[in-house]
Amino acid sequence: MIPISVPLLGDKEKQAVLEVIDSKQLAQGAQVEAFEKAFAAFCGAKHAVATSSGTTALHTAMLAHGIGSGDEVITTPFTFIASANAALFVGAKPVFVDIDECTYNIDPYLIEAAITPRTKAILPVHIFGNPCDMETIMDIAARHGLVVIEDACQAHGASIKGQKVGTFGTGCFSFYPTKNITTAEGGIVTTNDDELADRARLVRSHGQRKRYYHETLGYNFRMTEIQAAIGLVQLGKLEQFTTARRAHAAYLTQRLEGVTTSYEAPGCHHVYHQYTIRVPEGRDQLAEHLCERGIATGIYYPLPVHKQVLYQRLGYTDRLPVAEKICREVLSLPVHPALAQEDLDRIVQGVNSRWS
Ligand SMILES: *Cc1c(COP(=O)(O)O)cnc(C)c1O
Repeated sequence: MIPISVPLLGDKEKQAVLEVIDSKQLAQGAQVEAFEKAFAAFCGAKHAVATSSGTTALHTAMLAHGIGSGDEVITTPFTFIASANAALFVGAKPVFVDIDECTYNIDPYLIEAAITPRTKAILPVHIFGNPCDMETIMDIAARHGLVVIEDACQAHGASIKGQKVGTFGTGCFSFYPTKNITTAEGGIVTTNDDELADRARLVRSHGQRKRYYHETLGYNFRMTEIQAAIGLVQLGKLEQFTTARRAHAAYLTQRLEGVTTSYEAPGCHHVYHQYTIRVPEGRDQLAEHLCERGIATGIYYPLPVHKQVLYQRLGYTDRLPVAEKICREVLSLPVHPALAQEDLDRIVQGVNSRWS
């Protein structure tokens, strides 16, 4: 079976883990600091604050920006639930804006109509590694005095005209095993703002700057030395992983027939966390057809966030027709760096043979 994703760790990661174990420094220390410096440099951000997951990175960003009860956060319904839940964690209200039919990202031209006096932040998600229209979003945020928190959990290294995502607003990344690079579990917040980085560090570790002196209410959202050591090795492989993902995506786009292929907007560098096609009729049958031919697929996401039971219970009655339609039509195909040429050909043949 060709898997939909696979973590790619090798001898270097194993060696790095063993070295940390021998060092006896397991909790946040020099490895975490080195990983933060390397990740910030990779993004072109001034600071990076490592966390225990992408979810806690989002939670940390919310708290560091002082978002809380009574505030509204504008976001997309077409994402993993953690993006919107980050607002709920701090007592704020997620407000959903429908998505663009080509990019599957939040439709920037619908954002302004959703802004109210309570709006505090816009939380765009670079879904599948495809950058959002940050120029338009940053312009809206500046005109309305709003914070921008980018959910870049699927978009390590994605960029717009050479500027990496996670450096337009405050960036949040995940290193979960299916992501473009992994630390098993892990996350990071990126920012160019000294004070925001300082507050994020306080949130992450019990509000302490100095051990056992607590200034603010904080949490334990720390990354371990083992995770950071893995992350440092993985970060060194990211460019090569992305090159492979992009080559695989280009190959599929050139050859797939009868489906809507993945879209990359002009000036954008898509990093293909997922390669997602749209199948208006017979999506589930195509998934079945591919499964029979040894090709795993994924449906990201079968249900938009506002339709989840949690959000229905919270009283959300939004009608967001594009997101709802896209959820019925999307199918993600394997695009990860471990694919061989014969895997790619099997995927193409599988998709193109579905009615024969
Ligand atoms: C993976 C992911 C998260 C959460 O990251 P975790 O590390 O699993 O907590 C948040 N948002 C998006 C869009 C994601 O893909």
